[in-house]
Amino acid sequence: MNPDCPNSNCASFSKNVDTRKDGFYSRADDCRIIQRYYCKKCSKRFSTSTHTLEYNQKKRRVNIPLLKLLCSKVSIRRSALILGINKNTVLAKTIYLAKKANIENSIFLKKLKVPIFHIQFDDLITKEQTKMKPLSITIAVDVQSRAILAMKVSQIGAFGHLAKKAVTKYGKRKNNHFKTSNDMLAGLTSIIEKNVLIETDEHKRYPTIVKANFPMATHKTYKGEQACVVGQGELKKNGNDPLFAINHTCAMLRDNIGRLVRRSWGLSQKAYMLQHHLDIFQYFYNKIYLKL
Ligand SMILES: [Zn+2]
Repeated sequence: MNPDCPNSNCASFSKNVDTRKDGFYSRADDCRIIQRYYCKKCSKRFSTSTHTLEYNQKKRRVNIPLLKLLCSKVSIRRSALILGINKNTVLAKTIYLAKKANIENSIFLKKLKVPIFHIQFDDLITKEQTKMKPLSITIAVDVQSRAILAMKVSQIGAFGHLAKKAVTKYGKRKNNHFKTSNDMLAGLTSIIEKNVLIETDEHKRYPTIVKANFPMATHKTYKGEQACVVGQGELKKNGNDPLFAINHTCAMLRDNIGRLVRRSWGLSQKAYMLQHHLDIFQYFYNKIYLKL
């Protein structure tokens, strides 16, 4: 079947009734032979790559290696050095990979055949630019399959001994943690069973969020425990950790995403780029690492 006409001014826009095949061309980037098409209504020529997310890309060969590097603790600048491309190309490709990952992630969640009846969720604290601008990542995992169901970044105010200094230097920081985590759980209601078992730590806002989105769920809370030396402060000293699934996922995030590693030079400059990186990691973890 011929693809649709991409010209929005054409009478046959988004229809394939007036399109016909129109030869081939060899794409310089990867030497593939690409089918060309022609619209008889508007005389526009296009090809099979016109409708794809990769349209107009000049370095398709680095897409998959970059995806693996970004999910293996390698920083943006070092990925650029390893792949022999510009840092800005890596940034542009991160946005493209996140778009692609988002599509794949929603297909993955829709295709999950097993009903989800046991989830855990928690928050992971990180920062943008400075420790005085903290961010929180809310993560939900399915305990049975260990799949990451969702990850959302929210802005929170500085806390501890930096709180006062942060307000003086950057002004009052907006806190959208409640809204973001509430929206995240609301987005999962269609794929999770109504009488689900939800396990979390004793965060004061979690009961409200759970009650609002899963009124029939059983919500169990556990006291936070001391972290062990390995496990990036996320895995716990006590052998029988009831929140192991979520804590292990948090430890995987800390150890696999360069900008989340503790006591390192890597850090996020922009919260939205961290969100893009997390979307890519969700795809990598569920599809390539866990092979679900
Ligand atoms: Zn047309």
